[in-house]
Amino acid sequence: MPLPHLPRRTHEELLMETAYIALGSNLENPRHQLALGVAALARLPHTRLTAQSSLYRSAPVGYVSQPDFVNAIAAITTDLAPRALLDELLAIGREHGRVREVPNGPRTLDLDIALYGERVINEPGLTVPHPRMAQRAFVIVPLAEIAPDVPVPGQGRVRDLLRGVDAASVTRLKALAA
Ligand code: AMP
Repeated sequence: MPLPHLPRRTHEELLMETAYIALGSNLENPRHQLALGVAALARLPHTRLTAQSSLYRSAPVGYVSQPDFVNAIAAITTDLAPRALLDELLAIGREHGRVREVPNGPRTLDLDIALYGERVINEPGLTVPHPRMAQRAFVIVPLAEIAPDVPVPGQGRVRDLLRGVDAASVTRLKALAA
């Protein structure tokens, strides 16, 4: 009997990984900045935007005399290698006038690689899973909204990490547009 015709995945699709990108902004209309950031992710080469969380408001960590942040997580599938993806994220941040003078200080738009498949990367300038993400409600809460069962290498599943963060410190914003 002839085999049914199965759709073939292209070479590119076979190489694609799912990555979770943490976005944050606390300047110049943060909700709008996040919408621009997500749109920029969707335009990256060899990349598809597959999900995005709600927007969440969070109080600043570290340097506290600055406006609240708006945060979200976007899921992409990509065949950009981690370093190429990081370079694209840094370029998007630069295009949106990222301010870097103060560590943990105000920023127009910041994009970090939270997870890249199940890869563990410890290279100069690139650490994945993103360091401290497991302690940060503004990463774990939106990530749990779209990917509760995803493993965080060496740390359990996203849903398990919810227990270790102060979920009440972030507020889900109903409206997605500014
Ligand atoms: P920050 O200003 O705190 O967002 O840090 C930006 C710098 O963190 C970049 O220059 C990256 O080289 C570095 N970095 C290390 N790991 C990551 C990651 N997983 N995602 C984004 N940036 C990272």
